[in-house]
Amino acid sequence: MRQRRDVEVREVGTRDGLQSIQTVFSTAAKLEWIRLEAAAGVPEIEVGSFVPPKLLPQMADSAEVVAGALAIDGLTVAALVPNFRGAQNALAAGARKLNYVLSVSEAHSQANVRRSVQESIEDLARIVEFRDAHPEFATVTIASGVATAFGCSIAGRVPLADVVTAARRLVEAGADELAVADTVGYGNPAQCREIFTEVLAVAGDVPVAAHFHDTRGLGLANVTAALEIGIRRFDASLGGLGGCPYAPGASGNVVMEDLVFMLEAMGLRTGVDLDRLMLAREHMANQLRGETTRGAYALAGKPKGFVGAAG
Ligand code: ZN
Repeated sequence: MRQRRDVEVREVGTRDGLQSIQTVFSTAAKLEWIRLEAAAGVPEIEVGSFVPPKLLPQMADSAEVVAGALAIDGLTVAALVPNFRGAQNALAAGARKLNYVLSVSEAHSQANVRRSVQESIEDLARIVEFRDAHPEFATVTIASGVATAFGCSIAGRVPLADVVTAARRLVEAGADELAVADTVGYGNPAQCREIFTEVLAVAGDVPVAAHFHDTRGLGLANVTAALEIGIRRFDASLGGLGGCPYAPGASGNVVMEDLVFMLEAMGLRTGVDLDRLMLAREHMANQLRGETTRGAYALAGKPKGFVGAAG
């Protein structure tokens, strides 16, 4: 039975986190993580990415992980796809949702996927066309990330007008959802209000999600700012997994447990059971070889008398 939720939290650590650390999780360990987190009530998990295994060996088993995750009742199995080829592979593997990525920053786009912003939008249109031409994929959701929306570690500032133009053109190209991303953790709450207000205005009926990194400690502050503007879908990673072994101080996404705690404490139902979420965290943390987890809730536990939003 699906629970009523006010806010949807989506796990991305199985992709965003695992691709940024040195420990390589086995397929079985990834699937156990996914099962435990789905059992805690997390409705959607980005279980892997369809990139050439040469580039990201940690993601080489994504087709198997998708296949295993599809057996979990009620879970939306999402996969990151960087291009048309990746989308075809993800669809063939059975992914129920494709998370495509467009970098608003031209410099980041070239460095990350070796193509221009314009070419990225054309690629998304091709993916949508391919899905629409194949009835067996008719129910697959195609989302697009709007990456480096808050700034870029190569180009620096990213103009708001470029973010809004990219969002509008992705919607025109057929994206079913947008996920505006602070890829490098440059964002602040004031910027969130500005960006999400403008993006919502061009998104129309297309839902808009937020993907924040906690690199400079503003992850949850950015979530509350986005909540005020009406955003109800947030990416996060268990234990804040992520960062980069070559970039000291870099960190992962907003910590899932802290996010769920905050939302539930604010009276917003996530459908996630915090105690069961901690079991998933324990399993994930046990696999790590040298990397550390983050998160304040895991250290401090529940406040006395705490009850979740569902009462
Ligand atoms: Zn990210």
